[in-house]
Amino acid sequence: MSQEVLRHLVMLGPPGSGKGTQATILSEKLGINAISTGSLLRHEAESGSKEGEKIKKLIDKGNLVPDTIMINIMKQTLLKPENLKGYILDGSPRSVPQAKALDKMLASRQMKKLGQALDAVLYLQVPDDYVIERIIGRFQCANCKTLYHERFKPTKVFGICDVCEHKEFIRREDDTYETVVSRLRNFREITAPLVPYYEKRGLLRCVDGTGPIDVVSEKIRKIVGY
Ligand SMILES: [Zn+2]
Repeated sequence: MSQEVLRHLVMLGPPGSGKGTQATILSEKLGINAISTGSLLRHEAESGSKEGEKIKKLIDKGNLVPDTIMINIMKQTLLKPENLKGYILDGSPRSVPQAKALDKMLASRQMKKLGQALDAVLYLQVPDDYVIERIIGRFQCANCKTLYHERFKPTKVFGICDVCEHKEFIRREDDTYETVVSRLRNFREITAPLVPYYEKRGLLRCVDGTGPIDVVSEKIRKIVGY
């Protein structure tokens, strides 16, 4: 039995679930772009366009970019020739109102004609304590930037980088217990309601996000059908 490959996707999951990594792998396998809203907005802000100026002001003040602006940028992105084969949205929608706006945009006659309707929402499920351990154990070589993890990927020799033998390491400032807990709380309150939302629409596909990267991507491969 052959299944049609799913090419219009949303990656959903808490911070530290590995959805960015999985979006990148999927993007390479399917030959379609992983679209991160954060980088789209930064890109637009630096473009010098009228909308970009508005976005820059909001970001500089630490304000959220309104859904209407975000959806408009996403629409322009999904209409680009290189994204007509499909897309993987990473980091959006972030809330139910955003998902509704996205649905409305994708349901427009133009988008329907281009076959850009959503095929599935891949939800990477990971328990909170797993996320916390994954994030706060991360560190990186100060010289060559190779990523390590205290438990999952330590250096072969303690205190020495495997790649360049440097002895100094750095951690991301926001990889602390407090920040991770607050980001998780944010996810539960604002983003997690998307799970029942997409379930109702028959689009939700749950993936166990614990375990090694290749094990998780194999589970995703089966769902997506490539
Ligand atoms: Zn190094």
